[in-house]
This record gives sequence, structure tokens and C-alpha cells, in this order.
Amino acid sequence: MLSHRPPTWGSSSFSRTEPRARDTLRLETGMIKVEAKVWMTVLNHRLKLTLCPRGLAPLTQQDNFQSSWKQAVYNKVAQLSFSPSLLLAMGWDKAKTAIKQRILDTERQADLSKVTGFLAPDTCRFIVSCSAYLAQLEIPSHRRAFTLARCHALSSAILEGKYKKIPFMERLCPCDSGEVETIDHVLLSCPFYKDSRDRLISPLLLKYPGHSSQVYAKMLLSDDNRSFTYNVARFCGEACKIRRVLIAS
Ligand SMILES: [Zn+2]
Repeated sequence: MLSHRPPTWGSSSFSRTEPRARDTLRLETGMIKVEAKVWMTVLNHRLKLTLCPRGLAPLTQQDNFQSSWKQAVYNKVAQLSFSPSLLLAMGWDKAKTAIKQRILDTERQADLSKVTGFLAPDTCRFIVSCSAYLAQLEIPSHRRAFTLARCHALSSAILEGKYKKIPFMERLCPCDSGEVETIDHVLLSCPFYKDSRDRLISPLLLKYPGHSSQVYAKMLLSDDNRSFTYNVARFCGEACKIRRVLIAS
């Protein structure tokens, strides 16, 4: 029976809000902004100038000239909830470590606040680290397909509709089911991928009856279980190929 219910997780948490790809990919890969890395270097350099002055550095310390660079450094230190005296009291090694950790924490929190539906095991949600599947999935096409699925960036009517400014509820799957082509539709109900689903997805979910498609989709894409991740990545790789062929024919 065709379902015309409003899309759930696949659409509500991600597709409706359309996550910022840069923020999502930084969270996926455990990377931080170049600007944040530059600040680490700048603050470390400033610490070195003060704690281990060499060459002309002692003379610059005696100079009363108020440079905008110096002010920007003080502002950044305050923004990170440090004070110059506290950092100097820590000494070089501790201050360097504390600055790095504070910047990583700040960046992670800023990205998580923008990508509220980010999928990650609770154990690493607040740690700047690369998602496990990026190292564990050895076949590049599987890795790519899984990344696209987690970022809701698989080729779909959702994505095409975004750029053509088609109303969300009209971004229907080409399978003629009348459903919006959300990621949970692709994973759980699209007839295009039934064979792959029966082989790779359904056996995983048999142990967890009675949950909503929202919960199932999150379970499948959370990268919390290695065997789930492997099967879902294979499924997504096959789905990409099947859709490409069906759309072209
Ligand atoms: Zn479909």
C-alpha cells in the first residue's frame, strides 16, 4: 500500500533543515577549520615569544607599540576563556596542550550545533575524531556511498529539488510510490532496491521489531555497529548503481 505520511527522520532532521555540508564533513572526518589551526599556531608563537624569547624577541617585548595583531591575540585568548597570566603560569607544554584542546572543543561544539542530526556513536560524539567507517570500509565506492547516505547527499529527488526550488513534499521518488525520496525511503521501502534490501538490510533489522522508520534509519547509518555499517555501505553502493541505470533507461 502506498504511504503518503509526512517524511520522518530522514527528512525532518536532515533534509528539511538541509545540513551545511562543510560542517557535516568536518564532523565526519574529524577535521577542524583552517582558521582554527592558524589560531593554534599564532597562540603558540605568542607563547614562545613570551616564555622563550630569542633574537629580537626581548626587544619587541619592551616595545609599547599597540599593534592590532597583539590586540587580536588578546581577544582570542579571552574568547577561549583564558587569560594571558593563566597561560603563562601554566608553562609552555601545559599552555600549548590547553589551547589546542580548548580550540578543538570549541570547534566541535560549534559544528555540532549547526548539524543537530549528526550521526555518531555516543562514545565519540564530543571528541574530534575521524568516523570509524572511513578507516574500516576498504572499498572506496562503499565508503563514498555510506558517506553520501549519512550526509543525505545521495542522488535523489530531495537533492535535485533543493536546487530547483521544488517544494519538499513534491520531491517524489521516481519509483512512483508517491513517497518523498528521503534516505529512510531508500533504505527501508523503495521498490527499486528491494533485492539488495532483502539481502543486506532486512536481516539486520529482524532482531529489532516494532520500531519506526526514523529509528531504523538512524540505527543503520549511525556507524555504531561494524557489521551494520558494512552491509549498509554495500547496500548504498548498489542503490547508487541501480538508480543511475534506472534513471538513464
Ligand atoms: Zn522509491
